[in-house]
Amino acid sequence: MPFSSLGLSSVLLNTLADQNFTEPSPIQAQCIPAILNKHDVLCIAKTGSGKTAGYVLPILMNLQQTLAVKNRHAHVLVLVPTRELAEQVAAVFKTFSKNLLQSVKTVAIYGGVSINPQMMALQGVHVAVATPGRLLELLNSNAVSLSAIETLILDEADKMLNLGFKEEMDKIISLLPKARQNILCSATLSKDLQNIHQLLLKNPIVIKIETEDGSLDLIKQVAYIVSNEKKGPFLRYLINHHEMKQVLIFASSVHQVDAIVNKLRKNNIDAKAVHSKKSQGSRTESLANFKSGKLRVLVATDLMARGIDISSLPFVINYELPRSPKDYIHRIGRTGRAASHGDAISLVSTNELDHFGIIQKKMGKQVELIDSEQIRIK
Ligand code: AMP
Repeated sequence: MPFSSLGLSSVLLNTLADQNFTEPSPIQAQCIPAILNKHDVLCIAKTGSGKTAGYVLPILMNLQQTLAVKNRHAHVLVLVPTRELAEQVAAVFKTFSKNLLQSVKTVAIYGGVSINPQMMALQGVHVAVATPGRLLELLNSNAVSLSAIETLILDEADKMLNLGFKEEMDKIISLLPKARQNILCSATLSKDLQNIHQLLLKNPIVIKIETEDGSLDLIKQVAYIVSNEKKGPFLRYLINHHEMKQVLIFASSVHQVDAIVNKLRKNNIDAKAVHSKKSQGSRTESLANFKSGKLRVLVATDLMARGIDISSLPFVINYELPRSPKDYIHRIGRTGRAASHGDAISLVSTNELDHFGIIQKKMGKQVELIDSEQIRIK
């Protein structure tokens, strides 16, 4: 099915062609008509499935009609869990807004940077892509109004609706007009989300393209049993042995991320850290250098696990396992995106083995487990 049969304007079709989007991904083929028809949508999309364009394109189409009539205040609010994802989603809106008849202004709003430029930028905004904390600050200082929001999107909805964000989300949702279109996107559908979407969505169209395990087919998973003391040398062996040019490494704490980076750098492997204690400037720079291939190794906490799109990322390594099986799926989903293949390697110590069993059970997939003692690393 071509994009041209989905009801998009010729301007958007031209931009799609410029971006080399030749045909819609399965999620796009279903999301675009549903959102164009102003339905509420619950979209359970595998990671890297193209869900962002799946909601951005029809929203821009619908906005063209709204903006022809009214132009004041933001009409679309996208809520995301991390600053990096806010920038990434805003960039997709900006790409597809080029050449539209009614120009669309998108602003990314998130904490960790000074608030004044964002306040100024919000003048005349149509699409706000925000993390909840900074949005509330801006609402408190009347820099933005939610009174004209027609469409609410929760990207990484399971994360947005979990306990950590609950108070902020309740407050924001209470400030939105009751009559609105709601779109929830999530790679994983937890029980909580099933309950909460009933509160948020009115007769939603549920779009579920593949089961969670099916979504992982492009990712080759392998795990090595490695003692905690040997994880450092074994990690360096993997990077060198596979001649990894671009690898994203996950660890569970800020402290561990910094320790891994220091060790790699001491061993002449170029690495940078991204975690919540780094300045936003440094986070942005490291991610940009990593995406462009200038930086070989990025070591991160689960901050980087959600939604971040690094095209053709070949390797993800779990230096240690995340507590939640869902986070394991999100982490390895940074590779194997948009139909390209990837390798996900986990370093599992013996005391993590039971937990790894639970992760595999939840994922519905068995992962090859190799004893690292059988491998000569020097
Ligand atoms: P997402 O799942 O929204 O993060 O998208 C994953 C990647 O797929 C992004 O780099 C998009 O630019 C790319 N992408 C999305 N839709 C298409 C499409 N129809 N054709 C080609 N690439 C696409």
